[in-house]
Amino acid sequence: MSEVLTFEELKTAVSDGSVDTVLACLVDMQGRLMGKRFVARHFVDSAWEETHCCDYLLATDLEMATPDGYASTSWQSGYGDYVMKPDLSTLRPLPWLEGTAMVLCDILDHHTHKEVAHSPRAVLKKQVARLEAMGLTAMMATELEFFLFEKSFDDIRKEGFRSLEPISGYNQDYHILQTTKEEDIMRPVRNYLVAAGVPVENSKGEAETGQEELNIRYAPALETADHHTIAKHAVKEIAWQKGRAATFLSKWHHNKVGSSSHVHQSIWKDGKSAFFDANDELGMSALMRNYLAGLLKYAVECTCFLAPYVNSYKRFQKGTFAPTRIIWSVDNRTAGFRLCGDGTEAVRVECRIGGSDINPYLALAAQIAAGIKGIEEALELVPPAKGDAYEGSSGMIPKNLRDAREALKGSAMLREAFGDEVIDHYCRTAEWELEEFDRVVTDYEVARGFERS
Ligand code: ADP
Repeated sequence: MSEVLTFEELKTAVSDGSVDTVLACLVDMQGRLMGKRFVARHFVDSAWEETHCCDYLLATDLEMATPDGYASTSWQSGYGDYVMKPDLSTLRPLPWLEGTAMVLCDILDHHTHKEVAHSPRAVLKKQVARLEAMGLTAMMATELEFFLFEKSFDDIRKEGFRSLEPISGYNQDYHILQTTKEEDIMRPVRNYLVAAGVPVENSKGEAETGQEELNIRYAPALETADHHTIAKHAVKEIAWQKGRAATFLSKWHHNKVGSSSHVHQSIWKDGKSAFFDANDELGMSALMRNYLAGLLKYAVECTCFLAPYVNSYKRFQKGTFAPTRIIWSVDNRTAGFRLCGDGTEAVRVECRIGGSDINPYLALAAQIAAGIKGIEEALELVPPAKGDAYEGSSGMIPKNLRDAREALKGSAMLREAFGDEVIDHYCRTAEWELEEFDRVVTDYEVARGFERS
């Protein structure tokens, strides 16, 4: 990748005082940045080699709870350390934070210095390496949809999440007038991200009140996941700086459409798309047909990584542009998999199942693993579906996390691709989400039954 900030340039910036802080970050299971803020001088003198963090960072939930049942760490093992190894190729300025640069870290075992297999970056790197061994590269893009709210995160939390007023009063799909009113947030999001080496293409209004979409140029899979993570973080931080809130919950209200993170994908060989065949009616190569057939065959098993929470499944509703079925179709936004750019060199498949709450590393890794299996098995692709994909009941996306988790648990394909340790780890993650949801009494139950039950 083209480096945005070399280590030598960072050293110069530290010497001339333009950078005083370096964030050393890992990506956790939820796809969030976690880490430390280094005094820049200390980072360039020593911490650039490695730093440390508690190993519970890859075994907590969104609220930093410490569930039991993980083989990797526990109260019994004493929650020891991981090594955070800065990947200096990811060094970049964060222009929306004064005097600040950041670096992403890989997570290594404290004793063996081997990469921790269930760390999201390691999971994706392994699938990228499998493709590389086949002489192939996955070029991918994740779209980021999210909602902007009038109030700040803190005010919303203090008011018990009851004052959720989106920043606009109407559906703002492609709306220039309404999105102009959101430019105090979105303009810095676009421009600062570009300056941070995240190749934003555009932002646009989406099909709900307060909903925005950010598009980033496709890139090799690991870079795409890094871009996604940094962009999501930037949106939240810049919204916070402006006294607003941004949510990436995939469904924050049952009467509103949800937010997705579609995954565009093409496989390249020797610098050009191996998905394109000019002689095919749709421009699809045999390799693309095998790959897409793999995505379809293994979609149920991969769903846990595209819809990781109980809430994620509320998004899959008829007539909302979120899919309900695992079928493919040509430029049709009702299907789980949409063929885009048919007949051109940009021919690609867009997986529409993922919500805005995905961990992009895990989602992309699962897609690549399914695609590789499709190639290995030389799977034949069924003809594309036509018409409204919401009509019909075959090939349904799992209806809930419980079913998706069962499919993940039993997935020989993902066990072979990721390793048993990794699959068991993430099955426990999903199981914990279910246990917590089963335990907690929701607002819905109280309002419904308090008087009337
Ligand atoms: P849409 O109309 O669905 O928003 P866009 O043309 O904006 O489609 O492209 C959506 C995403 O697809 C962008 O992030 C773009 O970089 C990505 N993309 C374009 N070509 C390819 C490709 N060959 N492989 C993977 N992603 C691609």
